[in-house]
Amino acid sequence: MPVSLSTTASLYDRVRRVIPPIEWPAFTDDIEAIFALKRKRNAVILAHNYQTPEIFHCVADIVGDSLALARKAMAVDADIIVLAGVHFMAETAKLLNPGKTVLIPDLGAGCSLADSITASDVRLMRQRYPGVPVVTYVNTSAAVKAESDICCTSGNALAVVESLGASRVIMLPDEYLAKNIAAQTKIEIIAWKGHCEVHERFTPADIRELREAHPGVTVLAHPECPPEVVAMADFAGSTAAMSDYVGRHRPARVVLMTECSMSDNVAVKHPDVDFVRPCNLCPHMKRITLANIRTALEENRHIVTIDPDIAERASRAVERMLAI
Ligand code: SF4
Repeated sequence: MPVSLSTTASLYDRVRRVIPPIEWPAFTDDIEAIFALKRKRNAVILAHNYQTPEIFHCVADIVGDSLALARKAMAVDADIIVLAGVHFMAETAKLLNPGKTVLIPDLGAGCSLADSITASDVRLMRQRYPGVPVVTYVNTSAAVKAESDICCTSGNALAVVESLGASRVIMLPDEYLAKNIAAQTKIEIIAWKGHCEVHERFTPADIRELREAHPGVTVLAHPECPPEVVAMADFAGSTAAMSDYVGRHRPARVVLMTECSMSDNVAVKHPDVDFVRPCNLCPHMKRITLANIRTALEENRHIVTIDPDIAERASRAVERMLAI
């Protein structure tokens, strides 16, 4: 059954602050088709915070950061998960939901961080630093997770590092996240040279210019930003923590030093807050569109599979983190 006109109108009400009326008609056909396909195939759509508003607010059933998505999907009675995000997120969803079919609409939706390291790199680090535990950010492939002792997110990295009872920890692959955690703990952190191509572009000069142009603006930074950017921010935290911060503090004017769509998605929930939007776009996230979500559901593609041995070892590293 198609979505009624009144339903698409009420969907537009959610996003009218961030999608101009002239653009909306281009989305309605795909939105109607996706609603029908979700019902027909008993499917849910998981959308990352960096997805565009017509995906995030209009067709997604579960939204959040990558780990929250995978965890919430565990509680859902669905046969199919469509991951509106990048490939490592689809793998994590599959690790935590092995009995469900996980689809990613575009196999090219990668990640500069995940691509910065391979499983054999992790094995070489272990040889170089024998006995030092390996903490791996969730923004990695399942094969890299499988070589790790435990995973972490940007939200729980400090707690994970401090849970291990070690004086030295290898933290992979984000150099800046590792340095930002090192600044908060006495534990020696051995980092890797991986960077997020979105967050590495923010500079202290950007913050100076933003503060000059918008006096009194509150600056929130993601911990994948360089440490000198994080040091100048009013608050640093994961995408979930930044969103919570805006909800709790209701700053009159705020800037989120992270991917462009995040500001749009948070702005929808807080019409009273003025968002300044410097735009660093993630080209991988933007490969996901309403059109290819629709095709994924119509043609059952692309199915995410993980080698069973890798899946078992990678799940162990994820579950160890979840137990903290
Ligand atoms: S925003 Fe950065 S970490 Fe996230 S998918 Fe894009 S490149 Fe990877």
